[in-house]
Amino acid sequence: MTEPKRTPGGFPVVGVVGGGQLARMMQGPAIELGIQLSVLAEDAYAAAALAIPSAPVGEHTDLHAVRSFAASCDVLTFDHEHVPPSLLGALEADGVVMHPTPAALRHAQDKLVMRRRLSAMGIACPRWTVARTAHDVTAFGEEVGWPVVAKTPRGGYDGKGVLLVGSVDELTGWLERVGAPGPLEEGVLLEERVDFVRELAVLVARSPSGQAAAWPVVETVQTEGICTEVLAPAPGLDPPLASLVTQAALRIAGELGVTGVLAVEMFEVGLAGYSPYVVNELAMRPHNSGHWSMDGAVTGQFEQHLRAVLDLPLGDPRPRAPWTVMANVLGGQDDELYPAYRHIMARDPAAKIHVYGKGVRPSRKIGHVNVSSDDLQVARERAGHAADYLTGLVRE
Ligand code: ADP
Repeated sequence: MTEPKRTPGGFPVVGVVGGGQLARMMQGPAIELGIQLSVLAEDAYAAAALAIPSAPVGEHTDLHAVRSFAASCDVLTFDHEHVPPSLLGALEADGVVMHPTPAALRHAQDKLVMRRRLSAMGIACPRWTVARTAHDVTAFGEEVGWPVVAKTPRGGYDGKGVLLVGSVDELTGWLERVGAPGPLEEGVLLEERVDFVRELAVLVARSPSGQAAAWPVVETVQTEGICTEVLAPAPGLDPPLASLVTQAALRIAGELGVTGVLAVEMFEVGLAGYSPYVVNELAMRPHNSGHWSMDGAVTGQFEQHLRAVLDLPLGDPRPRAPWTVMANVLGGQDDELYPAYRHIMARDPAAKIHVYGKGVRPSRKIGHVNVSSDDLQVARERAGHAADYLTGLVRE
């Protein structure tokens, strides 16, 4: 494997396992800071491989490939959660420095591990159980009320491992269809269906030395299980609740020993709830809910992740504008995105367009647009319009 060329000046090489858009978006701040990025990409046309000169091709499940990649880097971090724990254990035994560490990352890789740990910490979660038999499913449904939310503990993303089920039969039929990671006997996470007011996300960063920084709490808007829009900060959020959820996220980062960026996805629950919020899930990497920070905060999440994994002092997470709205660009009508640039750039010179270099597939996240403004509704309209125009959803 070719070694990444070292930048003069004693700068470290940060290796990212996985060549998706998150690795790709780290390259901008890495270039600015003179830090050398190298990425282990799934193929030569992966989003990050197109933007990062040092991009050996290899599978994240292939110990030999990951091991020789790690040998050319000073620190390893991840574009996704899917590197098998056994492989991470082998790297740890080799002495590879990883942020987040395998022990912390477990909580973002397996939703059952995460639920057990957060519940033990007394962090508010939906009522949940692990079901291995039809009887377990019926008993839980009768206890918390149907329908319940079923989740495959591992491997889900963008709502793909999540199903609202009204009966045992619906659950077993679905498990057969999704196949991985296995049948009911392997254990499926069941949660009560939370009647939430809205979805929030708290993004924090923590360095190995223990310094931490939190961005303002955001609202995430989902359509059919996929995040379509992020509003920063979450409009009208009660200040005591903002401080409660931020403290919870910082506590999770500290107690789990998270290093790098941590996203804590939450549901805001109405007055009927036993807690004003419950935690949905964790991601230990830059996250879609933090893309707004690239243009809307003094320090964006990709720069902050690099600082954190290198144990450098963290940057200021404060917002630069009263409101920043991020609209995801989801694959739609048009295969070609570039022809839309002339129109959207002329219509809104202040809109910040980010495109990931990925092929267009329906509902695939292929880019996002950030707009900052003094007026939330104006920012939503402008960001949404640019995102929809890019994919041909609107034509003028
Ligand atoms: P993924 O790992 O695929 O992102 P999530 O656990 O975040 O899956 O769930 C995807 C979406 O499903 C959430 O954003 C939320 O809208 C909905 N959801 C998940 N869990 C629950 C729940 N317990 N109650 C109600 N809705 C839920």
